Amino acid sequence: MVSRVIPVNPFDLVIFGATGDLSRRKLLPALFRRMLDGQMPIEARIIGVARSKMSGKDFQGFVREALAEFEPEAAKAPEVLEAFLAALDYLAVDVKGDAGWAALGKKLRPDVVRAFYLSVGPSLFGEIATRLSRHGIATPDSRIVVEKPLGHDRASAEALNAQLGKCFAERQVYRIDHYLGKETVQNLMALRFANALFEPLWNSHYIDHVQITVAESIGVEGRGAYYDHSGALRDMVQNHIMQLLCLTAMEPPAKFNADFVRDEKLKVIRALEPLRPEDSVRGQYRAGGGGASYLEHVGNPESHTESFVALKVAVDNWRWAGVPFYLRTGKRLRARMSEIVVVFKRPPHAIFPEMATQAPNELVIRLQPDEGITLHMTIKEPGPGGMRLTEVPLDMSFAEALGEGHRAPDAYERLLMDVIRGDQTLFMRGDELEEAWGWVDPLEAAWEESNEKPKPYDAGGSGPEDALALLHRDGRKWREIES
Ligand code: NAP
Repeated sequence: MVSRVIPVNPFDLVIFGATGDLSRRKLLPALFRRMLDGQMPIEARIIGVARSKMSGKDFQGFVREALAEFEPEAAKAPEVLEAFLAALDYLAVDVKGDAGWAALGKKLRPDVVRAFYLSVGPSLFGEIATRLSRHGIATPDSRIVVEKPLGHDRASAEALNAQLGKCFAERQVYRIDHYLGKETVQNLMALRFANALFEPLWNSHYIDHVQITVAESIGVEGRGAYYDHSGALRDMVQNHIMQLLCLTAMEPPAKFNADFVRDEKLKVIRALEPLRPEDSVRGQYRAGGGGASYLEHVGNPESHTESFVALKVAVDNWRWAGVPFYLRTGKRLRARMSEIVVVFKRPPHAIFPEMATQAPNELVIRLQPDEGITLHMTIKEPGPGGMRLTEVPLDMSFAEALGEGHRAPDAYERLLMDVIRGDQTLFMRGDELEEAWGWVDPLEAAWEESNEKPKPYDAGGSGPEDALALLHRDGRKWREIES
């Protein structure tokens, strides 16, 4: 299948924090890939900003090394690599001061798309937005991109939105949740809304429940200080899992555009029943499998922060009445894997004896480690041995369906190009962000008040026993965590 790449308009993209981890591992490789595929035009410029003193040439060397480490295709396409490096520039600016901004302004061209990516800690978002505005660098059409953590609770998210709002209109603000840039997540929308097959079944008449799992095999590693202040609910559920829940549960938007899609997601968040502590399970991983415990990782033996959370959630509206959504995420689990599982009801009448014990149909939308969609169906076991049933997966794996050489682009490739195109569909709107925080805040407060310790769980397992019980008590069970 020939890929249909439409080049974006020329742009000046300023990456604040260009020497940091996110920039090296994700942003710069993603931009390189877009040039390799012919989408980033040769006239585009990427201007790195950080405090470290270095020349434009030094920065090019820095990026060359980053690409050698994180983008294998760079070595295979030396001409594109040189063109990409030629598009780079660098300026040392401490964004907390007022020096250097005039020079930055001079580097930007008046007649191309202008975008600012804030790949720095959130405490600097306000500093940068204010100075971009004060120094006349932000134009009415420029875009500003920010990434999690976008606040810590509703009040801080409102404060952040207000701070950005002083300098930028909502149509200029791109709040990245990279889960929305994943091919499969977008495919979930195509599957639901571009096929006649699923949507009639996508409701409480035919769906028994939904499971969303985001499992990580690693622990908090070097992020202990940040993570211990956050925990799994804030770090994963409020943003990534909430987005997956919204796309699974939302009504079909009248049009596929930014405001229509985001309006529908917002309605889902508003329909969520308040979270009850008795429908939540918190866990902390023990030492094991050659790794330290959570408490050792964060260096705080008294920490009550959860490295695992499981929730039973109700979407209180017509479509989803009585259909629980079970959500879970955690660190140091058996495997790294993210998936949405839509579990259908069994047929209303069993004409084959085995049907009572047969697994129900399941639609598994897999985001990690590989992307793809599988529909688990029941068929007759082949052969003359009578009417026996068996389960088969109908695999809608994209790599196979779309042919040799197809690759799922990294989420940042899609999202960065959307910023340049001015398409906010896959970015969170300010009100969505605030409502999502408003939903998790009361549970955080209840946990804090109870002062209960999270349940310990073994590294390499599937979380605390209580998380299994959360489904068992409803006569259901989680799908296995496996890669
Ligand atoms: P990082 O590795 O610590 O990089 C921070 C960058 O900011 C460096 O380039 C640093 O360079 C620059 N910087 C710090 N203070 C500055 C100042 N006063 N003026 C100008 N530049 C300054 O952080 P990161 O991991 O890349 O993360 C960046 C942001 O993305 C954070 O908000 C993080 O939460 C978020 N994020 C990261 C990831 C990830 O995979 N890393 C994933 C999701 C979200 P100098 O020290 O030279 O100034």
